[in-house]
Formats: sequence, structure tokens, C-alpha cells
Amino acid sequence: MSSTLVTGIGELITCDGTGEDQLGIRSGAALVATDGVIAWIGPDAQAPAADRRIDVGGRAIIPGFVDSHTHLVFAGDRSEEFAARMAGRPYDGGGIGVTVAATRDADDAVLRALVAARLAEARAQGTTTIEIKSGYGLTVADEVRALRIATDFTPETTFLGAHVVPAEFAADRDAYLDLVTGPMLAAAAPYARWIDVFCEPSSPHAFGGDEARRILQAGAQAGLGLRVHGNQLGPGPGVRLAVEVGAASVDHCTHLSYADVEALSGAWDTTVATLLPGVEFCTRSPYPDASRLLAAGVTIALATDCNPGTCYSSSMPWVISLAVTAMGLTPGQALYAATAGSAASLRRTDIGRLAVGGRADLTVLDAPSHLHLAYRPGVPIARAIDLDS
Ligand SMILES: [Zn+2]
Repeated sequence: MSSTLVTGIGELITCDGTGEDQLGIRSGAALVATDGVIAWIGPDAQAPAADRRIDVGGRAIIPGFVDSHTHLVFAGDRSEEFAARMAGRPYDGGGIGVTVAATRDADDAVLRALVAARLAEARAQGTTTIEIKSGYGLTVADEVRALRIATDFTPETTFLGAHVVPAEFAADRDAYLDLVTGPMLAAAAPYARWIDVFCEPSSPHAFGGDEARRILQAGAQAGLGLRVHGNQLGPGPGVRLAVEVGAASVDHCTHLSYADVEALSGAWDTTVATLLPGVEFCTRSPYPDASRLLAAGVTIALATDCNPGTCYSSSMPWVISLAVTAMGLTPGQALYAATAGSAASLRRTDIGRLAVGGRADLTVLDAPSHLHLAYRPGVPIARAIDLDS
């Protein structure tokens, strides 16, 4: 047993409050972690003894960010595509094929090192839990390899064989659907907690509503939890399909109809709407109205969608600042969505909040309050604390 007392906390955000105070803001509080689990939270003056003591000097402490949507297992470089898009070329998902080719060509050690470096980058910005999808292999062996590498870094691994229809199956989509729902799923399932599908009928590379339903139903039968990429490039069936099949999360939600919002509202305790404003920023797309979702009672999460095509950023603080400046959230609502909200999208209650018995995943801000996350965009004020060093 090894315990650490964290003291000198200017503002403690637990994200374990209720109602108006869902952030659970405390001043003058201290916290004790024992073997990575929170053992005590209370007034600094009453703090019990511990093996080690960390004084954060008046800084704010928040729950570590939960980045519930990333595509970290990839090789190659698409900076030229980004530059071209900024020069006016629209994005339709086709560039994924470029990453697929580069990822298939990379050996295991290279891919593993790339993932490790991206995770270190995220942790240095305050992220303590990350979800990682496959989806740049698109063969049985390459999807399994991506998931095997991802499981070395996180339990939150997602099989995304249905990212796009790979070029070699362009003339026979049904054959690829048979592969994804058959041998590829069977081989991937032991390494995945979740299955995801890029449901976007407007893209010739992605999947329509009926195709996506077939993929999700096969995943559920294989024992996987369900996630959906939906309503990113235009209106579509993704959101309502996610609700229909009981998915834990539908991600993007950029183009929502009234019926979509109604469906999400009715499923507030089942299906989280995960917003990825970094994608809207990097693709110059319109932002969803997050305050409208909250007003309708929808549970929302924030994540990066860190990927080589549409948002190559692992920065949750930057996502929070975008959510506040461009999507109508308050700084507190954005922080809650990036921690407790994204934990809910992973159906986890041990992360995304600071409570006795939960994981001691702490992030410290070089600032007196959480407001600085949105107030100081692009400034590296957040980092995960290593309680054992
Ligand atoms: Zn994605």
C-alpha cells in the first residue's frame, strides 16, 4: 500500500456534484490516493497522514480528461491533404485510404512507438483515459494488429473495421460487409471492448443506415458494446440508429434534426452524444449547438477524434475552449462533458470524476480555476499528475 496526500489545492473540481453544482467545486480541500484509488477527500486542515505529500501551490485540480474518441493507431502523414483542404478542397472521407496504405506498410514496433508518443502527448495535456479505435488496417490481420497494439495502452479499444470500404472492395461492398461482420469481427472481438461504424450515407466510402445496423447487430452478438460515427457530413440515420440499438455513444452529431435531438433526449441515460469540435475547426464545418442538446436533456461528451485526416490534435483543453467559444457551452459544462460526460460514453463511473473509491486520475492546472481552460486557449496549463513519482 502506498498513499499520497495532495494538498495546497486552490480549487478542487470533483465533477461529482449534483444539479447547479455538478462540478462539485470545493475550496480548501485536500485528497488522499492509495494505490491509484481515491481514499479520502476533505478539508485540508483535517487531512490524514500519508506516505508522500504533493503540494500543488494553489493550483486547480480536476479529474483527468477522458478522451473517448481517438484513432491513434496509424502511420503516414496527411499534412498536404490538410493544406489542400484549407485551400478549398472539400473533405469526403476518401483520404482515409492514404492512411490505410501507410499503416499496412508500417511494422509493429513503428506503430507501437507512434501510439506511445501520441499517448504521452495527450497525458502531458491532462488526459488520463483514452479510447483507441482500429480502422486503418481493414484486413483481418491488420485490424487485429491495430487492436492488439491498442490493448497494450488502454482497455477502451474499439473495432472499426467499418471505417470505410477499402479500395479493393469498392466494386463489391457486400463482400466487405460479409468480411467485417464475419471473419474480421471474430478475429478482432477478443481485443476489443467496442465496435464502431462510420455511418454516413452521403459519403461513398462510408456506410448507410441498413449497412451500419447490420454491423452493429453483429458486434452486439459478439459481445461488444456499440458506438457510432453519425451525422458528421450531413443529416442521416446515424443518431437514430445509435439510439435504436442502444449504443453507448453517437459521435460527431454535427447535423441534427429535431427528431435526432428528441431521440437523444429520450435516451439520455443510454446513448451519449459525443461532440468533436476539433473536427469542425480543422475542416471548417459548422459546429453543432451543444447548448440546445443540454437544454433538451441530452447527455453530452467531448473528445478529440485525434486522427490524421480531420483533426490531428490530442488536446482536450483545446477542445474545451472550442466547445465554449463556438458551441455555446459554459466552461463548467464543457469541463463536465470532457470528464464525467465522456466517462458516461464509455459506461464508466470510476473515471471522469473524483470520488472516494474511484480512480485517482488527477490533472493539475497551472491556474487558480477551471475557467482558465477556455480562457487561455492553446496555452499548455493542464497536465496529468503522476502520483507515484
Ligand atoms: Zn472518429
